[in-house]
Parts: sequence; structure tokens; C-alpha cells
Amino acid sequence: MSQADSPARRDGVGRPGPAPEAAFAAKGADGLGVSAPAVATAAHRTRAAKPPPHLADLAPEERDAWAESLGLPRMRARQAARHYFSRLERSASYMTDLPAAGRDQLVATLLPELLTEVARQTTDRGRTVKTLYRLCDSSAVETVLMAYPGRVTLCVSSQAGCGMACPFCATGKLGLKRNLTAAEMLEQVRLAARAAGAGALGEPARLSNVVFMGMGEPLANYRALERTLRGIAGGQAEGFGISARNVTVSTCGLIPGIDRLAGEGLPVRLALSLHAPDDETRDRLVPVNRRYGVAATLAAAHRYHLATGRRVSIEYALIRDINDQAWRASQLAERLCQYGTRWVHVNPIPLNPVEGSVWAASRPEAQDAFVRRLAQAGLTVTLRDTRGRDIDGACGQLAAKEVAK
Ligand code: SAH
Repeated sequence: MSQADSPARRDGVGRPGPAPEAAFAAKGADGLGVSAPAVATAAHRTRAAKPPPHLADLAPEERDAWAESLGLPRMRARQAARHYFSRLERSASYMTDLPAAGRDQLVATLLPELLTEVARQTTDRGRTVKTLYRLCDSSAVETVLMAYPGRVTLCVSSQAGCGMACPFCATGKLGLKRNLTAAEMLEQVRLAARAAGAGALGEPARLSNVVFMGMGEPLANYRALERTLRGIAGGQAEGFGISARNVTVSTCGLIPGIDRLAGEGLPVRLALSLHAPDDETRDRLVPVNRRYGVAATLAAAHRYHLATGRRVSIEYALIRDINDQAWRASQLAERLCQYGTRWVHVNPIPLNPVEGSVWAASRPEAQDAFVRRLAQAGLTVTLRDTRGRDIDGACGQLAAKEVAK
């Protein structure tokens, strides 16, 4: 991987020069005696507008060099990575294979705290948990953890806010605050995996699936996304070991990102937020359609299927009298079936209420007729189970609002 992804390049303060190396190295063979690594100090001085560098931002092959540049033995980053990825641990007190002297500082440097839990809400009889986190610059993001029979799914955020401005989505109304780093996304996964393991959903459970359907447009944050996907799916000390096949990237249709993802050799599932089969309606519902129209976007989704062998999910929020007419279902079926029926899976989503939106969910009869029409065309259709609606945790409702306690 290129150096461009390293934390050092991101914030301009992370690639420590000789000073921190000397500081670490000056304290004995391991160089672990320094109390405040220059990396963290510099970040503090600038009031940490950007998150501090974190081990999980780096590709595995970059880690030795990073440790060395900090004046540490190369193996230290590998040791910390093992705790982080294999044991979901970032607490120094459990890392007894690291020298006791300076262990806290070492861990604070390699695995700094990036997310602070601010609030947690539970619903659906304990089977859905929404968590609000504050980031180091006071941005906020949310995750939603959901238990289903046989699987546990985490919905993660890829950006604070979102720049895509889809008018029916609460996150879209916030605008984009900033991209998350890979480590900030991986921390969402790690914390959720720990919570699930500790019984946050009832009995202890293993996090099995991750969907990038929280706040943000993942393909607008491509490099960090790619690093995150490898961190989720990698094995041993390289990732959390969640199968890439159980990971879904949902996009409003950024074609260059779709094509790039298709070439990564990662069999993640792609979900495309289509929401309308025609350009006129989609221009309104998904403004990026003015740049990447329906035909070109579906062609890219189909290329993704050809490259990965994975069925693509087509997300379609059903909005009363806007996009839910039966004739429109036929139009959708026709457009999808031009590539056959086996490459795709349609996922209609009952519209979730969003503050300030004039749109309503479809009437039950319209919803049923829409689904029936698609099924008649030979398409696989699954209506999305809407979780967490009462705690603003369902699709399109994440706005990282703090709830009055
Ligand atoms: N930016 C990504 C992830 C968005 S969230 C994307 O566009 O795909 C995941 C899904 O929820 C998307 O399909 C999104 O369009 C949909 N969604 C947004 N607001 C919604 C709402 N109010 N009701 C139902 N689904 C909504």
C-alpha cells in the first residue's frame, strides 16, 4: 500500500521525525519510558482537529516501519495488533507480553482512544442497540447492533454526516462534516463485537455481519473504506476475521468507487440505493443521479456482480405516491431483468419517518402490489425488516442527536 494512507500523511503530524524516536530510544533498550509521545503531544497542541494516528490505519506491512519510526522495536506494533484484532483489546493492563515499563504510553501511542461512548439505547425487546459515539474533534457518529436468528449485524458509519443530500434521509440533511478514518470505523466494529460478546443483546453473541449503512457514503471515503474492509475481514493479527462475504457496502451509486471495489478481490456484497427506475424521479431522490444516471449505475452494479460473483442488492425506499406505483415496479423489473434475474436481489425498505420530511411510507396495499410485481418478473425480493425505528435507529434516521436523559 502507498504511504498516502498512513496516519502520518493524513494529518501532517503523525510521521514522527528524530525527536520522538530519540525520546523513546533514550529510555532504555525498549525505549518505553517516555511519558507523552511527541505524536500525541503535537496532535493535542493543534487541538486534534484530526484523529491521532492509530495502528489500525496502517496496512499490516506498514506496521513494523511505524514502530521503528517511533523508536520502538519492530515487533511492538505486531504485538499490539494481535491484541487489537485477535482479542479485541486496547487495554494495556491485558497486554502482559509487553514490557511493564512504559506499557501504558506505548499502547496510548499505537492504539489511542478514538471513540467515546456517549449514549446507548435499546429497543426491539433488547435485540437492537443504537450507540452514539463522540469522536476526538467532537463530531458524532452512530452504530446500530441487531440480533437476528443465527446472526448479529452491525450497521456502521463511514462519515460524520453525509454530503449526498438525499432529501428523505436524516443524515443527508446534516451535510458532510468529515470522513472517518479506517481506525475510527474499525473501532466501531471492535466495540460492537465486544459489546455483543459481553451480552449487550441478551446472551453473549458473536458479531457476524457488518453493513455500511450507517451515516455517510462509504464510497466517498474510499481509501479508508478499503483499509477498513481488510481490517474487518483479515485473519490472525490482520483483522477481526469476519468473512468479507458477510460485509455489505451500501452506496448511492458512485460509479468509479463501485468499479474500484470490484477490483479489490474482496467478495463483499454491494447494495445500491436505487430508489427509482427512472432518471427524473431518481434525480430528485438521490441527487448524485444527475452525475451518474440510472442506466450507467445499473451497468456498474452488474459489472460488480460479474467481477465478484456476488448478487447485488437493490435498495428501494418505498415512498407513498412518489416511487411506489405498480407501473413503476414493472419499470424497475424491466431495467433489472435486462441483465437477467440471478444477478440481483431487490430490497424494498418501508420509508422511515424523518424529521422535517413531507414524505410518507407507502400504504400496505401499494407495498404488497409493488413486491408482488417484482416477484412475478422472477426477481428475488425481500422486504427490509425495519429495526430501531422508535429510537431513530432505522435506515435513514441516524443524525447523531444526543437524547435528553
Ligand atoms: N450512503 C449509503 C448508505 C445509506 S443508509 C447509501 O446511500 O446507500 C442505507 C439505506 O437507507 C440507503 O439505501 C438509504 O437510501 C436508505 N434510507 C435513507 N433514508 C431512509 C428513510 N428515511 N427510510 C428508509 N430508508 C432510507
